[in-house]
Amino acid sequence: MQAVRFIKQAARPAAKVLRPVAVSRAFSSSAATFTRSPVLEFSEEEELFKETVAKFAQEVVLPKSRAMDEAEQMDPEVVQGLFDTGLMGIETPEEYGGAGASFTSAIIAVEELAKVDASTAVLNDVHSTLVNTLVRTYGSDAIKEKYLPKLATKCVGSFCLSESSSGSDAFALKTRAEDKGDHWLINGSKMWITNAGEAEVFLIFANVDPSKGYKGITCFIADKDMGVQIAKKEKKLGIRASSTCVLSFDDLQIPKENVLGEVGTGYKIAINCLNEGRIGIASQMIGIAQGAFDRATDYAFKDRKQFGKYIGEFQGMQFQIAQAAIQIEAARLMVYNTARMKEAGQPFVTQAAMCKYYASEVANQVAGKAVEWMGGVGFTREEPLEKFMRDAKIGQIYEGTSNIQLQTIAKDIMKSKS
Ligand SMILES: Cc1cc2nc3c(=O)[nH]c(=O)nc-3n(C[C@H](O)[C@H](O)[C@H](O)COP(=O)(O)OP(=O)(O)OC[C@H]3O[C@@H](n4cnc5c(N)ncnc54)[C@H](O)[C@@H]3O)c2cc1C
Repeated sequence: MQAVRFIKQAARPAAKVLRPVAVSRAFSSSAATFTRSPVLEFSEEEELFKETVAKFAQEVVLPKSRAMDEAEQMDPEVVQGLFDTGLMGIETPEEYGGAGASFTSAIIAVEELAKVDASTAVLNDVHSTLVNTLVRTYGSDAIKEKYLPKLATKCVGSFCLSESSSGSDAFALKTRAEDKGDHWLINGSKMWITNAGEAEVFLIFANVDPSKGYKGITCFIADKDMGVQIAKKEKKLGIRASSTCVLSFDDLQIPKENVLGEVGTGYKIAINCLNEGRIGIASQMIGIAQGAFDRATDYAFKDRKQFGKYIGEFQGMQFQIAQAAIQIEAARLMVYNTARMKEAGQPFVTQAAMCKYYASEVANQVAGKAVEWMGGVGFTREEPLEKFMRDAKIGQIYEGTSNIQLQTIAKDIMKSKS
């Protein structure tokens, strides 16, 4: 409980949070200079929060990370630890049992967790940036009162949009919801649902009127015990401890009031939420890149000698390491700038697509290089490098593939020319 209180205090938005739009002026005796705050300058509270999450990641998650990957199973103690340290309700208002902290804090948490374990990071990310955000933003007072406290303290959430025949074309979904007067009846299935193995709360997108096309899509909130069935758990290349499941809904009855937002607005809700979620995935990717970089550079500069020198003393190694450092720095600047833009209420859709695209490219390149920098050792499961490399791949696929991000960016450029 002490940890929860600490996170709540540390994570409370700072009075002086520095934002890219907030311009600070410094005056010298001779001339006025005009500077913008550095994007990576966190408030004191955010720095404290970052340290706390890093400590949790090192002490609780790291010792379990390899075993969770091998077992393809999240350790319940890690999930409990996320709740106990307040990481499952970072942005949830304090009145609902959360920390009432900023979006940037949620992004910091995902990055710090991903430096150690990308599966734990995505569990936290989907729960925070998709599920909590949707309930907080679109839930009625009754839904917020019922779900936000349990999502902050004990129940994992899942976001259920994709289906076997609708991935990138998400709004071609086939799951149907019928209005039965006093309740909704949902039939259909979902695929690729993160956290489904642990979740007790599910946000389900279903169409109430296929004749209206995507304008029939509606977002429902369901408890597992209403009858959500886990049909199959996928066996994956990476983020293996993160559960990814097929769900089936066979006459699933949902109370009439369990609609998020208005009936028929599910497509808007999903788009808005995924734009924000992409910043979270980008943050997961910079965490992976940094985690791989840190381990491999320790090895190059402190552990491994060849030809009588540390391998990091060879220029051929140094230039690759320097290039990777530049890529990580650039990706991190993009991610945190986009997070601050979102917090400042500025349009950020294109920037979210850019940072997700770029951070996932960087994670794949840096993790791949880091395996090489450690030679044969990097290729074994004794070291975490091969895991970082496998875990990075998903960044180019979920919450919109890299092509879909490029399409979003290109559309924006085209619009600016018309
Ligand atoms: C581990 C994992 C976890 C996931 N978690 C969730 C979750 O929690 N909730 C959820 O709802 N979904 C989830 N997903 C689904 C994920 O968002 C989709 O896999 C993703 O959107 C891609 O859809 P798809 O797999 O059907 O690929 P497809 O859409 O079939 O794409 C296949 C290829 O075609 C390309 N392509 C498709 N359309 C175009 C186009 N118009 N232009 C150019 N190229 C195109 C894609 O870029 C890709 O390379 C998850 C997926 C995975 C693998």
